[in-house]
Amino acid sequence: TLLSVSGRPLDVDGRRGAIAVFHDITEVREREGDLTAFAGIVAHDLKNPLTVIAAHAEMAHDALEPAAPHSREAREATASIDRVSAGVVRMRRLIDDLLAYTTARDAALKPQPLDLNALVGEVVAERVNHLAVRPDIYVGPLPRVEADPALLRHVLDNLIGNALKYVQPGRTPKVDVSASTAGAGWVRIEVADRGIGVPDADKPHVFESFHRAHTGQSYGGTGLGLAICRRVIDRHGGSIIVVDNPGGGSRFSFTVPGAPVAMAAPAGVTAHE
Ligand code: ADP
Repeated sequence: TLLSVSGRPLDVDGRRGAIAVFHDITEVREREGDLTAFAGIVAHDLKNPLTVIAAHAEMAHDALEPAAPHSREAREATASIDRVSAGVVRMRRLIDDLLAYTTARDAALKPQPLDLNALVGEVVAERVNHLAVRPDIYVGPLPRVEADPALLRHVLDNLIGNALKYVQPGRTPKVDVSASTAGAGWVRIEVADRGIGVPDADKPHVFESFHRAHTGQSYGGTGLGLAICRRVIDRHGGSIIVVDNPGGGSRFSFTVPGAPVAMAAPAGVTAHE
């Protein structure tokens, strides 16, 4: 049974006390699981109609474009269609994040020995492809870990993506990915940046779903990325935190099991599978 406790202090006729209420939240947790599964199904089913909307918006835009400079109505119609397209992009991002969120929760974990250097290299290359400015990225050397490749990729992609995203406008993004041992066969991976940093009041909440600390125009997002990271790292038995980067910016660090070191077979003994 999962119990949650809520309560409040009482002051009756000058006599002080407190009231505590215990709730059985097993059912709430189960319902939360149902809701996550439901969100996953809805997100998946929304993809098709959204593709249709996007395709038609593009066709309407192309059809109107030649007429646009000549009439106010056509210009307004084009502007409306562009707004529809921008809405579609935002919905796609939300759907992708919701799907990743349900996957992070429900997909069977398939841990295997992984070379983090290769994985981070791929994630960085993909992210950098989509950027207008060339960021300043320093990586590794990184160890081998025992983790689910697809899920760990989500974590690295979210953290590196955020480090590249939450920068002062006009500044070159600076990211540092490093590793250290975290004792008893565990490794700690850190993604540090020189960006705008996470305010202290938000630090305890940034790993909650939909919590966003910076909601200005220039930083689009859904607030699900770090919730996905926490789910994945929890499922590997590790933990994830954020602290200030001493030089400015923020430093996200998480722990995962290190890959078991292959033992050399003693002379004269042959290993059999
Ligand atoms: P989002 O889709 O909003 O980026 P995340 O869950 O990835 O959602 O992050 C939650 C919030 O934490 C963000 O909205 C942002 O305010 C803050 N945040 C995350 N990463 C960074 C970072 N590297 N630097 C500063 N703030 C960050």
